[in-house]
Amino acid sequence: KKIRVGVIFGGRSGEHEVSLSSAKAIMDNLNPEKYEVVPIGITRIGQWLLGAEPAQLLAAGQAVQTDTQNSNLTSVTFTGDPTIGHLIPLKQGTTLDKEGKLDVVFPVVHGTYGEDGTLQGLLEMANVPYVGCGVLGAAVGMDKEKMKMIFETAHLPNVKYLVYRRNQWERSPEEIMDAIEAQLGYPNFVKPANLGSSVGINKAHDRLELEHAMRVAAEYDRKIIVEQNINCRELECAVLGNDEPLASVVGEIVASNAFYDYKAKYIDNKSTVVIPADIPQQTAEEIRRYAVQAFQALDLSGLSRVDFFIDKETEKVYINEVNTFPGFTEISMYPKLWNASGLPYPELLDRLIELALERFDDRQ
Ligand code: ATP
Ligand code: MG
Ligand code: MG
Ligand code: MG
Repeated sequence: KKIRVGVIFGGRSGEHEVSLSSAKAIMDNLNPEKYEVVPIGITRIGQWLLGAEPAQLLAAGQAVQTDTQNSNLTSVTFTGDPTIGHLIPLKQGTTLDKEGKLDVVFPVVHGTYGEDGTLQGLLEMANVPYVGCGVLGAAVGMDKEKMKMIFETAHLPNVKYLVYRRNQWERSPEEIMDAIEAQLGYPNFVKPANLGSSVGINKAHDRLELEHAMRVAAEYDRKIIVEQNINCRELECAVLGNDEPLASVVGEIVASNAFYDYKAKYIDNKSTVVIPADIPQQTAEEIRRYAVQAFQALDLSGLSRVDFFIDKETEKVYINEVNTFPGFTEISMYPKLWNASGLPYPELLDRLIELALERFDDRQ
């Protein structure tokens, strides 16, 4: 009997489109002999649609109509069956059918309401196995402040940073900019604490740019991170596993813009990746070790991409962040790193589903 895999994508996130591309690639690569795919799309305004394809969801946009307009698109009613304790997506008007239960869920949502523990919490409540990190890991992996605090206690090399709340910023912008100038200097990087795909991130070279960058970040988040600029090469390492995670070969991103911003990531198509990265073996080993340590320190599971900087002058390695549900198209770094490490895309999906089921069993 085939494993029924619910693939959840889209969502109320600044990375909605990225999620649609990732989900399409995942659905195309789930071996049809082994899996029955149940696509579940979430629109930008948070409507859940059963049977929606990523392209449909994109076309549907915000003004999506359900039920009447398109019989393939029906909103999802979740029914927890107490006898099997699972989440069952129901088309409107149909009744509960035990055969219809999902065996595992692939939450392919990047950023808020998906990669941050919220969707994971829903799946926990419904008692259904799911791919990737649990509630805690996903939540700390999304919050750059808490992530850095945990890195610090694990003795991982953070870039120097400061954190401000939006209300602090609004009350005393001049004092805050004085402090940033004194402690971090220019240029510096200003980021919303909980986001991804470089949305809301700006590099500030002077006070005017800093003020603008702070204002932008404060629009996206009530918490703002400011980091010292590292004149760097960017390296990434893919981690896979639960309690005994493995690190892939290390890859390098060569950004097409001044930094690896949203445009460089998804629009230009000019950024390139080098796998394996052309760095000394010792440095690659150091990065792989840090990647596994970060994964364990944050209590992650399933998968994560761990991102690093190497200072071009001093060659010092810094940890930048983790992404607990990294981009997952065929040309995304995470699957490419595993492909280069001997695990092709479809087998990577098999492994992630195995890990999801294993983690679920461990917790029973
Ligand atoms: P992702 O899409 O990987 O989730 P993100 O939105 O979480 O990204 P970061 O990875 O923190 O954002 O930053 C985005 C990019 O900005 C980095 O890939 C890098 O190019 C640049 N950058 C961020 N912080 C620094 C820094 N301290 N020094 C130099 N460059 C930086
Ligand atoms: Mg990130
Ligand atoms: Mg991200
Ligand atoms: Mg990043």
